[in-house]
Amino acid sequence: MEKKIIESDVLIIGGGTAGCYAAIRLSENSTYSIAVVEKAAVKRSGCLAAGVNALNAYITEGHQPIDYVRYASNDADGIVREDLLLDISERLNKVTHDMEKRGLTILKDKDGKYVSRGWRNLKINGENIKPLLEKELRKQENVKVFEHVNITDLRYDGKVRGAYGFGINDGIFYEFRAKAVLMATGGASGLYRPNNPEGAAHQMWYSPFNTGAGLCMGILAGAEMTTFEMRFIALRCKDTIAPTGTLAQGAGAKQVNSLGEIYEDRYGLSTSQRLWGTVKENSEGRGPCYLKTTGIDEEKEKELYKAYLNMAPMQTLKWAATEGPSKKDVEIEGTEPYVVGGHTASGFWIERNRMTTLPGLFAAGDVAGGAPQKYVTGAFAEGDIAAEGMKEYIEREWKAADDREVLDKQAEKIGRKYEEILGRKDRSGENTAFYGVRELERTMQKIMDEYAGGIKTDYKYTGHGLDIADERIRILMESIDNTQIDDMHDLLEFYELRDRLVVSRVLIAHLKAREETRWHCFQENADHPGKSDEFECYINSVMKDGKITITKRNLVKV
Ligand SMILES: Cc1cc2nc3c(=O)[nH]c(=O)nc-3n(C[C@H](O)[C@H](O)[C@H](O)COP(=O)(O)OP(=O)(O)OC[C@H]3O[C@@H](n4cnc5c(N)ncnc54)[C@H](O)[C@@H]3O)c2cc1C
Repeated sequence: MEKKIIESDVLIIGGGTAGCYAAIRLSENSTYSIAVVEKAAVKRSGCLAAGVNALNAYITEGHQPIDYVRYASNDADGIVREDLLLDISERLNKVTHDMEKRGLTILKDKDGKYVSRGWRNLKINGENIKPLLEKELRKQENVKVFEHVNITDLRYDGKVRGAYGFGINDGIFYEFRAKAVLMATGGASGLYRPNNPEGAAHQMWYSPFNTGAGLCMGILAGAEMTTFEMRFIALRCKDTIAPTGTLAQGAGAKQVNSLGEIYEDRYGLSTSQRLWGTVKENSEGRGPCYLKTTGIDEEKEKELYKAYLNMAPMQTLKWAATEGPSKKDVEIEGTEPYVVGGHTASGFWIERNRMTTLPGLFAAGDVAGGAPQKYVTGAFAEGDIAAEGMKEYIEREWKAADDREVLDKQAEKIGRKYEEILGRKDRSGENTAFYGVRELERTMQKIMDEYAGGIKTDYKYTGHGLDIADERIRILMESIDNTQIDDMHDLLEFYELRDRLVVSRVLIAHLKAREETRWHCFQENADHPGKSDEFECYINSVMKDGKITITKRNLVKV
């Protein structure tokens, strides 16, 4: 492979919500050269690709940042980093107003006040939010954007000094060298068997291209991770996997079972309880379950058609092709579980400046742990904090003295690995490729579904099942070296599978370590169905030489 070395002061991995915003802010507040590397095209990559119709985190009049901390903490039953949440909450409004100045349309009433949904949610015209962010990024003279480059490993000699990856279209081996690195690759989807089969498998809630790459790179380099066991499982419109919040909060639709009974009051209204109630009603024979929309007026129905066109067009198409929500209640179901730090508290263990336990590596957005309910504005806020953190790190702590021997060997090893994997296609006669990547991906999803608390077991798992899952995931990790790789796209899929397998192993270890049930469905340990005071703590992990060590850390309150 042709090799290119790119040098910059700061490297940002992932041109998504947090990554773009961090680059924009850092560029506007420093003279640093910044490289943003994105595996797809920034204009429509990551969670914002299809657009969003609301900013879910905003502090409306009459409320304070601490109220948001309390809300997120209650929703996660106390297992959050309140310090990180407070930092984010204090910036939510600032980043919102900044984005409005940059061109984001936030809906206003006749008095010029933002139209809010509840006390912490603003309505926007967000179909174009990602192209808008991209436009702002391209304006920055200090920023160089590399697209269609997949990053696979950190450049690390005790401090993180860049990363390695390959160009999916140009076949180039890239070595990025930098003083500070921001990981902003989002969370992990596709670990478990999804709701829809075959060609519709990627019709899932979380971006199917966020494979947990940043988490995997951090884990392999020995970074400390937190709270993976607090999985996120979305309650969605059946089949389309479109969001339900717009119906529940926006249109006031209640959750009802097949007997027409409102059941949500019986289980509680936290994010996990809304899902748990639906799972229970189904398992006890009162399903399918719905959001009761029948009878809404024409105006409201029109609004819903538009809202869904902004973020999940498939739902509007479904209504247009069958019957609209005013005539038929909307059936709901839970998705497969994800590891997503923007919704739950799973991800890198970080300091308040957003530095991970690996010096020089920062994390923001869905890849960063401790602070759930971040959403879009929280990812912006965290990108902003990380940008400041990196600036301070470079000014005060960074030292040029790198271990060139270690780094050169590392670069050579990784380059050779890419070539070896690609080279397999040429071994005619002694072809060792037994499987396709997709076959192994499906096997992994089946294992996770059946033994690590997927849809099949109503999200419940046992210690014995987790042991089986762990053993089988390890076998799969050995088998990936026997996959058929024909081109750069296959190489990309190979690494996506590697990311997911590594994240799955750590997830299994976390699920096992929390010997209680704290969040129904999100973490439902059938061996320990009750809650225990002993687990009023974070479960953290570090992987070294393939072995995962679990530690408990005390809660941080403000
Ligand atoms: C369907 C959906 C609807 C949502 N709706 C709302 C809403 O209405 N309101 C709200 O406030 N929040 C909403 N959210 C949440 C919010 O969008 C996310 O929390 C936030 O955008 C996450 O930002 P991020 O930067 O962490 O990830 P992303 O924006 O996803 O960015 C990650 C980027 O990293 C890139 N990447 C991944 N791996 C690699 C690699 N190996 N090398 C290089 N690049 C890589 C990806 O391609 C992607 O561009 C929604 C989320 C989803 C999934």
